[in-house]
Amino acid sequence: MTEMATNGEPARSARETTQRTRGAPLRIALVGIGKIARDQHIPALEKDAAFELAATVSRNHQVDGVRAFRDIPSLLEAGLPIDAVSLCTPPVGRHALARAALDAGLHVMLEKPPGATVSEVEDLAARARARNLTLFTTWHSRESAAVDPARDWLARRTIKSVRTTWKEDIRHWHPGQDWILEPGGLGVFDPGINALSILTSILPERLMLRRATLHFPANRQAPIAAELELQHGANDPVVVELDFLQVGPQSWDIEVETNEGTLLLREGGRRLFIDGVEQLAAEDCEYPRLYRRFDELIAAGTSDVDVSPQQLVADAFMIGRRIEAAPFEF
Ligand code: NAP
Repeated sequence: MTEMATNGEPARSARETTQRTRGAPLRIALVGIGKIARDQHIPALEKDAAFELAATVSRNHQVDGVRAFRDIPSLLEAGLPIDAVSLCTPPVGRHALARAALDAGLHVMLEKPPGATVSEVEDLAARARARNLTLFTTWHSRESAAVDPARDWLARRTIKSVRTTWKEDIRHWHPGQDWILEPGGLGVFDPGINALSILTSILPERLMLRRATLHFPANRQAPIAAELELQHGANDPVVVELDFLQVGPQSWDIEVETNEGTLLLREGGRRLFIDGVEQLAAEDCEYPRLYRRFDELIAAGTSDVDVSPQQLVADAFMIGRRIEAAPFEF
């Protein structure tokens, strides 16, 4: 589902304290100071003059020189002028935080996946709409440089089949993040949903899940590997292989066979090949582009809410065959 809620007027914060001077930076609070907040959000915000990192909200972590609060109620009670929050906590618990922010009249940007369930996100979309606020469900992989060119190239061709290989080492990329293998942590779908976010963006027709096999470690509540078979259009097979135990070379590749050659997206969408010839290779630009878009959405008084990648993951949990795998420890 892609929803662009336009109310015709610039979105405004309901709180008097958040009224900002025209042209002044958006005062943003970053919620959940962990790996992605430090690796990507803070550097992107520091370089973007449209934003001012006014506060952090995190139970155990702070950022030097930035006002810190332990929870959203403390932030609101302090009366600090804030226009928006960006949520970087794990998906379970995100809804309550986002709801509190929207109820206080703040625009909200959500890390992927946008919530623990699809219905949570739909509830937030309705709340944002009712209050003329911006809700942005981000999918950072869609901002990789080769994704838009891939969509344009595929739009003029007939798709025959798609093969996606998303294999990474959980111990390297998510050291000690036990939440990722808890219920709602999504396991291998935490990175795998990035592949689904690209597929749902570049393929011209709707994707439907046909079959799934999910490998659950005996001592964990989320899969460590998965194989998906999807259908695109009338009958184009789409295969997705996800593995969270990949050591050595890591793979974030999507190969699309068409009537006029084969498109290959590598390194999560940073490199584009057509019939083996490289067309584009770019540096990581995902998070600066996400914040540009958040600023544009707020200025335009719209939301951007898309749950289609999350819906496919929910479908996999719904119809997937469950296979017990070896116990996993970090
Ligand atoms: P993380 O390193 O575990 O950081 C999350 C932070 O959220 C924690 O430091 C914690 O800070 C806070 N938090 C609040 N409630 C929590 C809870 N119940 N359990 C654990 N932490 C909680 O996780 P992350 O890697 O930054 O991932 C956060 C989100 O970003 C996820 O949705 C993930 O899919 C997404 N993401 C991650 C990456 C990546 O490379 N890691 C890339 C793109 C997107 P306090 O203890 O101070 O509250």
